[in-house]
Amino acid sequence: MNNLLYYFTFIITGLIVIYSCSSEENDDSLQSNEIEIIKLKLKVHLIQTSPWVHNSGVELSTWVTENNFKQTIITELNTIWKQANIKWAIDSIPEEPIFETDNLQEKINYVLESNRDGPFPDRLTYLEDFTQPGSRIEKDEDGSFFFHVYLFPFTGNTRQGTAIRWRNNNEISFLETFIGTWSNKHNNGGVPEKCLLIEDQNEFVRGSLSRTIAHELGHLLTLQHDLCSPCLMKGGGYLITQDQIDSSREEAKRLSKSSD
Ligand SMILES: [Zn+2]
Repeated sequence: MNNLLYYFTFIITGLIVIYSCSSEENDDSLQSNEIEIIKLKLKVHLIQTSPWVHNSGVELSTWVTENNFKQTIITELNTIWKQANIKWAIDSIPEEPIFETDNLQEKINYVLESNRDGPFPDRLTYLEDFTQPGSRIEKDEDGSFFFHVYLFPFTGNTRQGTAIRWRNNNEISFLETFIGTWSNKHNNGGVPEKCLLIEDQNEFVRGSLSRTIAHELGHLLTLQHDLCSPCLMKGGGYLITQDQIDSSREEAKRLSKSSD
């Protein structure tokens, strides 16, 4: 009877040793495959202005709300950027009045008339002029960069968005995107329509505001148009390729790092 107990204890101990060895191996392999999530901070500016009257007669109103962003857009951004394990966190979503720059109405008309064919060299400068100088905060207190998203009624015919990486002595100094909440890109410069907040990722028809923002944030992380299609950066899709994952993560790490 004692022998039996001895063998039984021996077998159980053996099983526990084998089990704990193998579970340690599993833990190790999990740790080596785990990819660090990089968190980046968004400042979303909902530019408030009276409706902009497009040449087609349509009034382009301010319509995207804080709730649209918090409940819908941010979720879609993070679903898309999960491919690179990059997580966008909302720092703030101010409703911001358009800046009363000189010749405001003339500048708005210029943006409304601009298209890709003609020379409209001042389009981006004017969009810049519409932002509150006080809202252009480069970095958080910990030294990490803010990614600014400015939502305007419109950014030009057949346009959806633009990204600008400002530099000062070759160092990044400010990161911003200008996004139109109305667009006529999908109908080749026809009557502008409100952008969709999101669209089914399996059925690309005209894209969405969320996809445009995700695309422009890709530019802020150095991605270009020429590496894939269809994908997030070209041709209407959501894929982020391995090369793009590698380079966007490298830049994301740099920009999210505290600078002391
Ligand atoms: Zn682009």
